[in-house]
Order: sequence, then structure tokens, then C-alpha cells
Amino acid sequence: MAEEEVAAMVGELRGSFRAGRTRAAEWRAAQLRGIVRMISLAKAACTFALKGLKNWMKPDKVPAGITTFPSTAQIVSEPLGVVLVISAWNYPFLLSIDPVIGAIAAGNAVVLKPSEIAPATSALFAKLLPEYVDSSCIKVVEGGVPETTALLEQKWDKIFYTGSGNVGRIVMAAAAKHLTPVALELGGKCPAIVDSNADLHVAMKRLAVGKWGCNNGQACIAPDYVITTKSFAPELVDSLKRVLKRFYGEDPLQSEDLSRIVNSNHFRRLTNLIEDKKISQKIVYGGQTDEKKLKIAPTVLLDVPLDTTLMAEEIFGPLLPIVTVDKIEDSIEFINSRTKPLAAYLFTKDKKLQEEFVSNVPAGGMLVNDVALHLANPHLPFGGVGDSGIGSYHGKFSFDCFTHKKAVLIRGFGGEATARYPPYTIEKQKI
Ligand code: NAD
Repeated sequence: MAEEEVAAMVGELRGSFRAGRTRAAEWRAAQLRGIVRMISLAKAACTFALKGLKNWMKPDKVPAGITTFPSTAQIVSEPLGVVLVISAWNYPFLLSIDPVIGAIAAGNAVVLKPSEIAPATSALFAKLLPEYVDSSCIKVVEGGVPETTALLEQKWDKIFYTGSGNVGRIVMAAAAKHLTPVALELGGKCPAIVDSNADLHVAMKRLAVGKWGCNNGQACIAPDYVITTKSFAPELVDSLKRVLKRFYGEDPLQSEDLSRIVNSNHFRRLTNLIEDKKISQKIVYGGQTDEKKLKIAPTVLLDVPLDTTLMAEEIFGPLLPIVTVDKIEDSIEFINSRTKPLAAYLFTKDKKLQEEFVSNVPAGGMLVNDVALHLANPHLPFGGVGDSGIGSYHGKFSFDCFTHKKAVLIRGFGGEATARYPPYTIEKQKI
């Protein structure tokens, strides 16, 4: 799409928004019903929004306060206007439709730019969405870097971006030129602490399905690395090996239950991480790869040097390093010496450790005795903090993400206080 076409499209959307098309509850509900008809997986998010919509849209009455007496005060949830959603490839359907649902529920006009790395899903959106929703207010623009760059030139009322922190910085810099607010759903290294008193078998099953069951590690909230004590590590590794053999068999590259790596660039990025001898000698399970099929087996590594890329950057694949510490409490300090993760996990029966973890580990979200499932509760906000992101969504938080909370105070003409007006004489001050 050429730059002029992008400008014309945004102009059309702004015209529709200004004409008030997207504001009525009926319009919002009709679009959400269109999406429910179109999908099955993300239906829950849409029906949740449909159920909440009228209530969410109601102004919030708040106490008026004595200083403005007599008056009424309310917070009005105002649509932001014309918003841009840029999504990532790893869950290309859900990560596109989920924020779009929030943007529509909040009464905005939306442009969705799906990821070019998942071209089939991107094409599907471009074909399907106009058949189910009002295409004068909701549009899909396909493409990669040039198209996204052209979109970012425009003035938007909000940009919602899912992807890596590096591109997040580009998005935020482009948004800053127009003072456009952003929500950045980024990634990072999600730690999973495993205490020796955890139910190890259950913990390893949950850890394994959260790591390798979710797109073979290509998930933003998949555990990136495990922390445990030096003394407990051998038992943990044995248990994890047993679970992995049961889940994916003796030859995991043949398993139908393991996703392939998305493309050859990512395949090479991941295999490079473990090819270095310093790293490959730390593999305690897995390590097999098949470039033709873009498959990498679940791979567990023990005590990898901390100054390696594997331990410095988000892995986003099927490699799982295990870091060891002297005491389990040291794992909190270890996490806190690094950037704030999108999710942090802890397996323990120790209530005191659970409390310490919740109070002292800053993370986008956290889960005790499981992984990834916090994302499935629409009453919890989903988003990062610090390097893992800005803003949050899901459930009502998606509506709020795309809404301006407008302060409205309504007064009558009574309640005049003469001290308010000049001249500010000594006599008036005495009143
Ligand atoms: P990606 O390569 O699909 O990029 C994301 C989007 O950015 C795409 O739409 C792409 O077209 C656009 N883009 C890429 N380069 C650009 C550039 N130079 N200028 C403008 N736009 C550009 O996805 P990715 O970044 O590889 O996604 C993986 C990352 O996303 C991981 O870090 C992962 O943790 C994170 N992620 C976060 C969440 C979350 O909800 N927080 C969900 C999924 C993925």
C-alpha cells in the first residue's frame, strides 16, 4: 500500500469515526457479533465483551466533593478515535483479533496489521474480516516492514503493538512524533523457580506443557529458564526427562505434538544458540535438530554460563536452560538483577516463599504452581512491565486500553462563593 493510499484510508476511517458511526452500543455489538460468527477460538473474549459492553460504556458516577458543591461528577469512557493494531506471528489469529475486539468494544475505528511471518493468517484476515464487520470503520492492511513503516507515519489515536522489544522501540519512537499513546505487548525471559518441596511430577508436567506444548517454546509466556537449587537440580532433570519422554517419545523430531520452528531464520537463530561448544556441552537432554522439517527437539541445558546469548536474550524456542542457586530464596535476587519479565512462575508448597515471590518479584503477571494459565482469566490484566511492555488488555482491561477516561463535572448556577473572585481583599479572606 503506497503512502497516499494509507493516508486516504486513515482519512476515510477518521471521517467514519467523526460521523459517530462507531459510538453506538448497537454498532459495537453488531461488529462483535460479526467476529463471533467468524471465529471459534477467540469467541470467549468476544462474548465476554458483548456481555460487559453496555455496563462498561455507562459513565461512572463519582462523589462530587464539597469544593465544587453543588455539582455532579462522572467519568465518561470515550473512544480514542482511529487506532492501529500491529500483531505478531506466533499466535497470529488470537494476537490480532483479541486487541481488535477491545478496540471495537471501546467504540473505535481500527486498522489491523497482521504479521507477514504468518502470511496465511494475514491473508485470511484480509479476506474474512470485511465479510463480517463494517469495513468503513474496520480495515486490514497486510505487509511487512515497508507497510508498517508507512502506517506508523500516520497520526493514530493509539497504537497497540505485539512483538519484540526492538521493534517496540521503533513503534514508540514513531508514536512519540504525534504524541500517540501506545500499548506495547513485548516479551522477555520468563523465569520458573522450582523449589525442592514442590510436587515434582506435577510441576514438570505443567512446566513441559507450558514450554513445549505452547508452539514448542515460541510463546511470549513460555518459561524461558528454570531456577532451582544446586542440590535439587539432578532430581529435577531426571523428572523432566521422564515427562518429556512420555510426552514426545524417544525420537521427539517424529512427534506430531511438537510444533516446527516458524521459519529458517528462526531455526538458524536457535541452533546457533546451542552450537557453541561452551553451550552444547551443557545439554542434558535433547539437542536433535532437523533443518528440512524446521524441527528442534525439547532441549534441556544445565548451568549454562550466564554471559552467553542463551542467557542474555529471550530464547523464544524449545531450549530450556536450568540455572542453579545455593538457596531457593536466592532465585528472587537472580530474577531481580535482570529486566522485568512478562511472566514469572514459582512451584512450591511453601506459603512464605509464595508470599515473598508475589511481593518481591516485579513481572507483568505471575502464576504459582503452574505456567501460562493466568492468561486465560479475563478478570486479570495481561501485559508487561518495564522491558516486557507497557499497558495491558484482556476482558474489561481491553476496553479500558482503548478508552479515554474523560472527567466530567456538571454544576448548576447556585453555590456562588464571593471569595473565589477578585479583588482578593483582606475582608474577603476573613470570610
Ligand atoms: P514479528 O516479527 O511478527 O513482528 C511483529 C510486528 O512488527 C509485525 O507485524 C511486523 O510486521 C512488525 N515489524 C517488524 N519489523 C518492523 C520494523 N522494522 N518496523 C515496523 N514494524 C516492524 O514478531 P516478533 O517481533 O518476532 O514476535 C516475537 C516477539 O513478540 C517475542 O519477543 C515475544 O515475546 C513477543 N510477543 C509478545 C506477546 C505479548 O502478548 N506480550 C505475544 C506474542 C509475542
